[in-house]
Amino acid sequence: MLVNMSAKATKEEINHVIDRIRECGFQAHVIEGAERTVIGAVGNSGRRAEIEALRAAPGVEDVIQIAHPFKLVSRQLKPTRTIVEVAGVRIGAEDVVVMAGPCSVESEEQLMETAYAVKAAGACMLRGGAYKPRTSPYDFQGLGVEALRFLQHASRSTGLPIVTEVMSEVDVETVAEYADMLQVGARNMQNFSLLRKLATVERPILLKRGPSATIKEWLLAAEYLLAGGNANVVLCERGIKTFETATRNTLDLAAVALVKELSHLPVIADPSHGTGLRSLITPMARAAIGAGADGLMIEVHPCPERALSDGPQSMDLPGFAELMKQLVRDPVRQFKAA
Ligand code: PEP
Ligand code: MN
Repeated sequence: MLVNMSAKATKEEINHVIDRIRECGFQAHVIEGAERTVIGAVGNSGRRAEIEALRAAPGVEDVIQIAHPFKLVSRQLKPTRTIVEVAGVRIGAEDVVVMAGPCSVESEEQLMETAYAVKAAGACMLRGGAYKPRTSPYDFQGLGVEALRFLQHASRSTGLPIVTEVMSEVDVETVAEYADMLQVGARNMQNFSLLRKLATVERPILLKRGPSATIKEWLLAAEYLLAGGNANVVLCERGIKTFETATRNTLDLAAVALVKELSHLPVIADPSHGTGLRSLITPMARAAIGAGADGLMIEVHPCPERALSDGPQSMDLPGFAELMKQLVRDPVRQFKAA
């Protein structure tokens, strides 16, 4: 961190800041410019919040952060990429991992039909919501434990590991009993007590980006999981709120590329929630892979017009099979050489 002293700062004020920086556990590096003095607080183990508070000290104009506030998730700490293994499926390794399935588990028949179809098309994991975070309390809220049982049955029948959302701390043990990977939904990305609890479970976590979260906030949410003892975290970009209304959210693919620079954790993209429009899912899935995504999450329903949630963004079974063919045939568009 850098402490910018004002041009009028006195020698005493500068010395006071240097003393405080040392008291907080950092080394103080003084840069004397023609007009003003800048003091760097250098080191990893000091108390950063107390340096930030120096904004209020006499003679200080500003305190600027230069290092990232997240540590354990950062590539500075661990330059090699993390591979997260979910019941034998490796996320963050060579292959793009596709997780597919319905937004909500609605019945055993709906789930089984979808599970067999997505497996035949090449998906590696099955998704399906048992506990649904719905904007309206009058909308379908999910089948809860009954859905978890259906998911377990579908997993045993197809061999596909399960990823499903856990919305509340009180459901963590139950969901962990049935699921191979626990999803933190976008609306819960900053539910810190949920994150603390999930840091202690022996299941990998899929952490979705909050609709209004900055990349820094997203990575700090992941930092809660790693700091609490769970290193098996996969990040999922699922679109953010912008001024645009033509799409449900704005799928931020620059965030996928940037997070891969900043963090060693695998990153996947969810073009279903990221666009809200079925016709955009294939192009944005391909774009996500082009941006470096390690995987995709795609909503699939045997009859999207009857879906109890997210029908307009769900692919039907032949549509999903076609998407998978396109990804395999032509992962990223080729440029013709001159
Ligand atoms: C979902 O995956 O169905 C879901 C609710 O996602 P999000 O939390 O990204 O809205
Ligand atoms: Mn959904």
